[in-house]
Order: sequence, then structure tokens, then C-alpha cells
Amino acid sequence: MTTAEQLDEFAIIDLFGGAFPSSAAGLPLGIGDDASIVDLGSGQVLAVSCDLLVEDIHFELDTTPASDLGFKALAVNLSDLAAMGAEPLLAWLMVALPENTSQRFLEDFNRGLVECARRYRVVLAGGDTSASPRGLTVGLTVAGRGREGRLVTRSGGRVGDVVVLGKPIGAAAAGLALVQGRISLNEAQARAARQALLRPRPQVELGRLLAEQGLARAMIDVSDGVVQDLGHVCRASGCGAIIDVEQLPLATPVADCARQLGCDPVEFALSGGEDYSLLFCLAAPDVPAVSRLVGQELGCEIHPIGSLDGGPGVRLRRGRHIGKAAVGGYRHFSQGKKGKD
Ligand code: ADP
Ligand code: MG
Repeated sequence: MTTAEQLDEFAIIDLFGGAFPSSAAGLPLGIGDDASIVDLGSGQVLAVSCDLLVEDIHFELDTTPASDLGFKALAVNLSDLAAMGAEPLLAWLMVALPENTSQRFLEDFNRGLVECARRYRVVLAGGDTSASPRGLTVGLTVAGRGREGRLVTRSGGRVGDVVVLGKPIGAAAAGLALVQGRISLNEAQARAARQALLRPRPQVELGRLLAEQGLARAMIDVSDGVVQDLGHVCRASGCGAIIDVEQLPLATPVADCARQLGCDPVEFALSGGEDYSLLFCLAAPDVPAVSRLVGQELGCEIHPIGSLDGGPGVRLRRGRHIGKAAVGGYRHFSQGKKGKD
């Protein structure tokens, strides 16, 4: 008998979704992107996405304060709306709670959830609550609006497009190594790394700007590592990509962290996951203007890291050498328990 453990996460998704079309009446975009798109008529669409956080897969309670868990549960979902360029509106919260969960834990969790909801102007619209025989599970569904034809999918990339990151990567992986006691960092770096891990900031404003101005041709949020998530864009867009390793924006603690772990900083940052940076494709001539616009409107930088090409899959360029990207990302059921989206 084949079990879920022997299947790949993506084979399981195909098993569920294979019998259904990738679009239908009222559903211009179904399974396969960061969010589904539902047609509301009158030129309006709704992007809908859901995510689960499971104890000991996505988080460990001894290293995750309840309020941070509340914040993060909503934030990682909003990152999928950011990846479509939608404006977040509503959230539904599902919890399965072990019977000994304390009221204090629930209040703290809710404080973090409310903080995130206020920051991104999201209203809790409903949910479901159950007892759990083992471990805590939190699920969130979020919905955000956009204009018809303006939301950005994974599939619009074209050969020659520049691949761009919305922020430096590797800070959350450094935070995970820190809270697990595998490294130590100075106070300022430790604070930044812990914040990146426990209170990720989805790039909602950046996603909306790129979508509303029709600038990004394809977009995804980096939850499982840049190589794996850029791989999804490549497959959906029918092309390959080369990442220029020297252009990768590495978060401040990465160098120190990799030295302490005795690993390559680039591999550490590429495979770490949980960055919740946007990754998007721009027509090459648009890059300087988009960079200026994002600086003016949002006061932040964008980081070109490579380009789409006709080659197979995602490859890394180091100086003159180009090689297949061996660094993976997280996949459920195909590796040990450790955690990301
Ligand atoms: P993300 O990392 O952006 O949250 P996932 O890798 O979780 O995306 O999911 C990839 C796609 O597969 C999404 O479009 C999602 O809606 C779909 N999907 C995941 N699990 C299921 C499921 N059990 N049934 C149907 N669709 C699913
Ligand atoms: Mg996503």
C-alpha cells in the first residue's frame, strides 16, 4: 500500500485536483497558483488562499510564543495574496486545539492575530473550532480583491524577463537556527532574525503596486526557498531561469550564521525558506523605472537576481560557471519533519 509519506506533496495535490479543470465558470484561476481567482462581475475579482500551520511541522511551541504564532498564521496567508497583487480584505480562522490549551495561550494568540489583521486592514469573517486529539493546528483562509485581468499569476513569465526579489533572503532561516540554539548572534542581529522568523512581513503594498500598474508579468511569494519557488514560476511559464549568485541579496545575519554552521552562505539563504519575499518577473527594459517607482512610492529597494531563459529548470551562475541548482526547498512528505509552508 502506498502511503502519503511515500508520495510527494505535489503528487498529492495532483491526486485531489486532477479531476477538476484549472478554470471554470466564475473561476478564472483554480488550483496551481498562490491563490484562486473568483470572478465577482463588474470588473472585480476576489483572490482566495488558505494555509495550514501544524504543530511540530510548521512550528514548535517551545520556540514560538503564542502571540507570534497568531501574527504569523495570518501573515503567511497574506503573503499569498501579496503574490497575486490583491488587496487583503477578509480572513477565516480554523483551529483544532488540544483539550489542555490554556485560555492565556488563546488570548495571546489572538493578540498577535489582531495585530497582524490591523496592520493589513483585514477583518475576521468566520472560521471553525474543534478539539484535537494530538497537537495544535491553525488554518486560515484569506480573501482579497483586485481588478479583473490585473492580478498576477505564476504563468506570465517570458524568456528574457529579469527575475527580481522584493527583499533580502535568509533572515528567517537565521532566526530558525538561532531559536533552535544552533548559532548565536549579537543583540541587533538576533532581534532582526527572530522578527523575520516569527513576525514575517508579507509584501502586500509591493504586490499591489506591481499588479495595479501592470508591471509584474509573473509573481510568487518565496515560502519554500528561492530555487523551489522560482521553479514553480518556470514550470508555469514554460521556461527556465539562471540566478546570478553574486547578485543575490543576502540578509545581514546570513554570513555570520553560515560561518558558524560551516556551510555556504548562498546555499543557506537559497534553501532556507520562509522568506516571504515577493519574487517577480519584469520585462528587462522596465527594471530601472520599476526600481525608481518602488523607491518613491514605498521607500524600498528591489533586487534583480537573474533572468528567465529557454534552458531547463533553475540554474545558478557563479562567475563563469553555470550549474544546476542543487539546493532544494521544503516539501511535505518527502523529507524529515521540519517546517514550512
Ligand atoms: P503556497 O506555497 O503558495 O501556499 P502550495 O504549494 O501550498 O502553495 O499549493 C500549491 C497549489 O496547490 C495552490 O494552488 C493550492 O491551492 C493547491 N492545493 C494545495 N493543497 C491542495 C488540496 N489539498 N486540494 C486542492 N488544492 C490544493
Ligand atoms: Mg505562495
